[in-house]
Amino acid sequence: MTATRAHPDWCTHGHQCGLGEHRAQPVSLRVPGRGVIVLTRVLSADGRQHVEIRTRLSLADGERPARAHLARILVELEAHLRRVTALTRRP
Ligand SMILES: [Zn+2]
Repeated sequence: MTATRAHPDWCTHGHQCGLGEHRAQPVSLRVPGRGVIVLTRVLSADGRQHVEIRTRLSLADGERPARAHLARILVELEAHLRRVTALTRRP
């Protein structure tokens, strides 16, 4: 894929298009006061599509609870990553 490839229907025509990367309007999932997950569909310069996922979460108060919270988040994200990437495996 090159920077001259046509924009997909969902492209927002941002400045990354000139670099060959087309991006959709981000979609946010929000739990007020707790966190937000932002998903953005991307068509990379190499022609592959992927989703960029950014997450911002409030951690538990205090150092020890925050570390425990981080550990739980890590375990859950790993399980989530394994589940969602299994959907992309080719037969
Ligand atoms: Zn574009």
